[in-house]
Amino acid sequence: MPKSDLILVALSDDQLQRLFERALVSASYKVALASERVTLDRILHESIPDLVIIGEDFDGADGMVLVEEILERFPTMPILFYAMQATPEQLKRALHIGVSDLLSAPLKIEDIMKAVENSIRRANRLGDWTRREVRRTTASLQQRVNELQKFDTILNNIEDGVIILDEQFKILLINPAARRAFGIWKDEEISNKPIAEVIPRPDLRALADSGGANPFPHNEITFEDGRVLSAQFVVIPQVGSAITLQDITYLKQVDRLKSEFIHMVSHDLRSPLTAILGYVDLVERVGPVTDQQRDFIERVQQSVQSITLLLNDLMELGRIEAGLDSQKEVVSLEDIIRFTLESTELQVKNKQQVVDLELPENIPPLRGNAIRLRQMLDNLMGNAIKYTPDGGHITLKVEVQNNQAILRLHDTGPGIPPADQPHIFEKFYRGSNVPRGIGGTGLGLAIVKSIVDNHGGRIWVDSVLGRGTTFTVVLPLALPELIGA
Ligand code: ADP
Repeated sequence: MPKSDLILVALSDDQLQRLFERALVSASYKVALASERVTLDRILHESIPDLVIIGEDFDGADGMVLVEEILERFPTMPILFYAMQATPEQLKRALHIGVSDLLSAPLKIEDIMKAVENSIRRANRLGDWTRREVRRTTASLQQRVNELQKFDTILNNIEDGVIILDEQFKILLINPAARRAFGIWKDEEISNKPIAEVIPRPDLRALADSGGANPFPHNEITFEDGRVLSAQFVVIPQVGSAITLQDITYLKQVDRLKSEFIHMVSHDLRSPLTAILGYVDLVERVGPVTDQQRDFIERVQQSVQSITLLLNDLMELGRIEAGLDSQKEVVSLEDIIRFTLESTELQVKNKQQVVDLELPENIPPLRGNAIRLRQMLDNLMGNAIKYTPDGGHITLKVEVQNNQAILRLHDTGPGIPPADQPHIFEKFYRGSNVPRGIGGTGLGLAIVKSIVDNHGGRIWVDSVLGRGTTFTVVLPLALPELIGA
């Protein structure tokens, strides 16, 4: 035991004080004596004793209250309480407020020394443990801080924009790339502000609105200066959501160049094909042909027709991608649906299929290009009829939710293999399970997707092999705040 420990003896009784002093000094402790409140306060102000001994009455005050005051200032200070004859209540109260040990008359030197040594030992142990815990917690905090700093550095330096929102769509975090993308000044304080207030863009808002309906919603955000960002929205449980933004301006430019090239080639190929078809038609008129020659002529005609179909689709796609026919007006989705159903009636009848229609009453209007929207639905419906076997079911359902029309086209056809599903909206992609006899260019869904994109909507597929396919198209309604009016 290091006997340099300082012990403060706060007793008003002189005789008692001397007894404690003798005992402690003979055991080599340093002793400070206080018989009045002023002296006690001065000692506690100048030094921190290793143990305090307090009597039940001290300078006319309740010793227990004094204990409480000292523990308030020094919560781990060991305190021995002296009561002439400790009552059970005193004992209970002393333990309750945190006294280390209780001494009472008759006092024996060895009892005093035992109580002092035990209390100091316990306090030292507690001190050691506290220091170890503080060191451990500090180290793990430092590690967390380092990790957070690393995370911060990554967020600050990546090219992609990141915006984290809480459940009320208020900004929790926005990185410099996202600020730059939307022209938000570096020092502008935007934490905790609603995203719709800081970035009032309908396309961004529509993306967040669709979060629940679409598992991986994304939107292209086009700026007046030509930049295009691809924005992804993900729900983060217990936090809110995150929007990540990727600059795809360059990809869009390359894509445009490619489309222009395809458009030009398709256009130039159409004239010689028309000439081929014209001359082939003439062959029969200039003289008799054998059966075999007629068979050859028909094959040439069929081939030229399927190339012409392909070129037409390619040119359509080129037009849509180039943004031609993009003028929009207020259109009725119900009219578009009825138009498509009428024009496909015969095909449906020929395959003895059943079409169910589930439309809510009074679907609010869309803002779009009626011809293109019809083309979109014709293509989807055409595929449903084409791929669903005779006698199958096709269901067309519309729901209105969060300022958007959600159109679902379900069929009981063969389904699309999972490996094909991510690619079916790509140009020229045809599913691996399409039977040989079913014709197609692989451009239909690319056209559909371009039309949906041009209308600020989204499309995705859910399909189970052998069970059927559902295409979901989400289109914004023509509400003033969504069309930026
Ligand atoms: P295609 O000319 O081949 O029909 P699309 O672009 O319209 O081209 O469709 C791409 C592929 O998606 C198809 O080849 C087919 O594999 C698949 N597909 C599209 N719609 C359906 C459907 N309703 N049922 C099953 N498969 C479909």
